[in-house]
Amino acid sequence: MATSRNYQTQGIILKQTRLGEFDKIVTIYTPEFGKLRAVAKGACRPKSKLGGNVEPLTHSLMLLAKGRNLDIVTQSQTINGFLALKSDLWRMACGLYVLELIDSFAVEGGENRPLFDLLLEILQQLSEPDNSEIALRYFELHLLHYLGYRPQLRRCVDCDSPLKPVVNFFSLSKGGLLCPRCNSEENRRHEQTETISGRPSMPLSVEALKVLRLWQGCDYATARRVRLKPELSGELERVLCDYIRYVLQRELKSLSWLRELRRQMASL
Ligand SMILES: [Zn+2]
Repeated sequence: MATSRNYQTQGIILKQTRLGEFDKIVTIYTPEFGKLRAVAKGACRPKSKLGGNVEPLTHSLMLLAKGRNLDIVTQSQTINGFLALKSDLWRMACGLYVLELIDSFAVEGGENRPLFDLLLEILQQLSEPDNSEIALRYFELHLLHYLGYRPQLRRCVDCDSPLKPVVNFFSLSKGGLLCPRCNSEENRRHEQTETISGRPSMPLSVEALKVLRLWQGCDYATARRVRLKPELSGELERVLCDYIRYVLQRELKSLSWLRELRRQMASL
């Protein structure tokens, strides 16, 4: 029975780190409390009842007890172990990338129910024989929205004029598109001051803009119907991943692994 010292929550296990010989610290993403870290005592013992229920890429129902520093997982039951996802190397890599994104952006204790629902939906989609590239891009785009970094794709972020169906330019620092005129001015300013490291903006094709705008405003069932040629798929990945890297100010480990895996699979 739940008392004031105990509470129940569902959550998706993002990460685990070993604590001593038999225990581990698990990072969990929950609908009510956002990200939280808790101790799973004895989870590394061979016959532990907690064991598999607190592995990364698992959706579990947990009973936790309030601790002095970290709370303690006292019971856990798997709701969905995403076995189809874990049994395929590519899909598992996609799943781990999604988890790393959540872990990198989410702060402990910051409730974000729509983001939890998005995470759960995308993990379910990645378990299906579906287009995993679309699932990843859709996830990135909506994650950015739910965290306050929604890319501005309708109007120029400098002059506020509506964007024309031509090649526009995505500005990482401004989080949205620059019209060609403002982009030229921006480039000229940077050349003069020489303060910028790396590209200040990147071109975005009309096709890529159309897809991003559609995805920003639709559910996943609609988003997945889009047919992407490899070139367009690559362009969408570049713009979203570069923007995420800019916001986080670092590279995600699982993204490098995902790209390496894709290269290897393509050369088979
Ligand atoms: Zn402009």
